[in-house]
Amino acid sequence: MIMATEKSLAAALEQAAIPHRNVDVGNALKVVRPSLGNEAGIALYRLLRLVALEDIIGRGAAGTAYIAGKKLGMSLGIGKLEDFLALCHSLKIGIIKVPVLSAEKIHVDVYECVTCSGLDKVGRTLCHFEGGLIAGAVEMIVKKRTRAHEVTCIGGLGDKACGFDLEFR
Ligand SMILES: [Zn+2]
Repeated sequence: MIMATEKSLAAALEQAAIPHRNVDVGNALKVVRPSLGNEAGIALYRLLRLVALEDIIGRGAAGTAYIAGKKLGMSLGIGKLEDFLALCHSLKIGIIKVPVLSAEKIHVDVYECVTCSGLDKVGRTLCHFEGGLIAGAVEMIVKKRTRAHEVTCIGGLGDKACGFDLEFR
């Protein structure tokens, strides 16, 4: 019994000595799946984002998802709006339109949103991750503190697009 405890303690210490390495964007995007390729269904992402995260964090999931998106958006190394739009296209986040684009105001609409398009209305906006991602990328492009506010949502509120007003500070 004592032997086993000492053994598991030794194993725990050994584990703790291994530095915790973060998975960065470049590493995460290295995909080797010879049979299945680099695409998966939307179900997996939605179950993680809308079902599992909300179940564990509740209302806090919105803020967590926003900050996750914002940090990610800022870390992508994007310097031009066209590059961000190209990335959204390749990740199939949705069909992105930018109907308002000025030095003071930007409005982004996401059609066929990966998170929510097709859901039964739930009465609140859902696409905080996308909002954060857009805010983070735009912050790096315009070099001003940027905040995204979701004002319309397809699956959350029954709108035609998930619309984000971007505020600068
Ligand atoms: Zn939405």
